[in-house]
Amino acid sequence: MTSAPESHVTTSDSVVSVKDVQKHYGALHVLKDINLNVTKGEVVVVLGPSGSGKSTLCRAINRLETIDSGEIRVGGDLLPEEGKALATLRAEVGMVFQSFNLFANKTILENVTLGPLKVRGMKKSEADALALKLLARVGVENQKDKLPSQLSGGQQQRVAIARALAMQPKVMLFDEPTSALDPEMINEVLDTMVGLAKEGMTMIVVTHEMGFARKAADRFVFMADGQIVEEATPEEFFTNAKSERAKDFLSKLI
Ligand code: ADP
Ligand code: MG
Repeated sequence: MTSAPESHVTTSDSVVSVKDVQKHYGALHVLKDINLNVTKGEVVVVLGPSGSGKSTLCRAINRLETIDSGEIRVGGDLLPEEGKALATLRAEVGMVFQSFNLFANKTILENVTLGPLKVRGMKKSEADALALKLLARVGVENQKDKLPSQLSGGQQQRVAIARALAMQPKVMLFDEPTSALDPEMINEVLDTMVGLAKEGMTMIVVTHEMGFARKAADRFVFMADGQIVEEATPEEFFTNAKSERAKDFLSKLI
């Protein structure tokens, strides 16, 4: 576990820096002194039982959730409270959720161009070209004129990834991106994510897909009861987990 003070120092290649973060929901202490530093190009997989605070941490990183105390920086900048500065900063964190949240009444192409047009002020021709490139990268360029409901869940989730990438984010955050998908569609989404990781994208991924985690992660962060209990390489974690909570978690994996 990297609890030494040095690990809190924000270096120039630190993309996400979470320092001494506390968060309560009423009486429930949901994030307990969280410290996490993610450097450029790093893929961090966050593991832990349900209710351990993984989603809350993800949402706090782009201010979909407030924190009680502590500090969160993206690309070295503190998260602004509100307004245009927040919209700009939020655009630097690409977020992909369990539910795809595509705009139902917009085409696939429009779903991807909306952010670049509205938040980045890109010209339509440029936004279209970028969107087509990204849709091709995730393998759904042929679907560009369809509505989300005409696509499979796996295709919709790949569009959600393209939409997040269109904002040219500094980091991609994935919160259980495949847990709502039919089994036969899980791999097409995970393969897209492995591709991104190989291209050097900085990523924070909450997932229970251990095959993906082992393949793509540089580091595992194991959470339980609102705390980061253990940090390890995948190899270390699988072969030599230190905490009882992590051993218990591993024993329940199929
Ligand atoms: P995980 O993603 O690891 O399953 P969450 O971050 O979703 O965990 O939740 C952590 C804890 O916070 C859980 O006990 C959950 O019930 C609680 N929680 C999450 N969101 C809220 C909320 N909006 N209001 C109150 N409690 C919440
Ligand atoms: Mg969750």
